[in-house]
Amino acid sequence: MEKTDIPTTESEWKSKLSPEKYHILREGGTERAFTGQYWDTKTKGVYKCAGCGQELFSSDTKYESGTGWPSFFEPMDPEKVETLPDNSYGMIRTEIRCANCGSHLGHVFPDGPQPTGLRYCVNSASLDLDPETGS
Ligand code: FE
Repeated sequence: MEKTDIPTTESEWKSKLSPEKYHILREGGTERAFTGQYWDTKTKGVYKCAGCGQELFSSDTKYESGTGWPSFFEPMDPEKVETLPDNSYGMIRTEIRCANCGSHLGHVFPDGPQPTGLRYCVNSASLDLDPETGS
């Protein structure tokens, strides 16, 4: 999707997204653990931003974190995921957003597996899995 196809107003975002996705992507909401579409998914493919379609995470970096949210140890391209300090709810966390459209993805924590030691904890609602087609 071209940058020009990204909604520019809140009303455009509301008409593009379901109420649940709007809350998570545009208001920084969080889906309940173990309820999302992808927390237990093992399908090979590319996870794209549910807001704009930018490729964000490869299934090759997805791992079982036990948290109930899809978890990855690194993004496909660090430039595509921006990080922001988030001190809400009395916690010191780092929010992650799609660098292309600004949609909220989740948070990144320093307790992931090697080689990065990072856990990108992402809402299923923020992702669209594009499954790898067998050849
Ligand atoms: Fe996006």
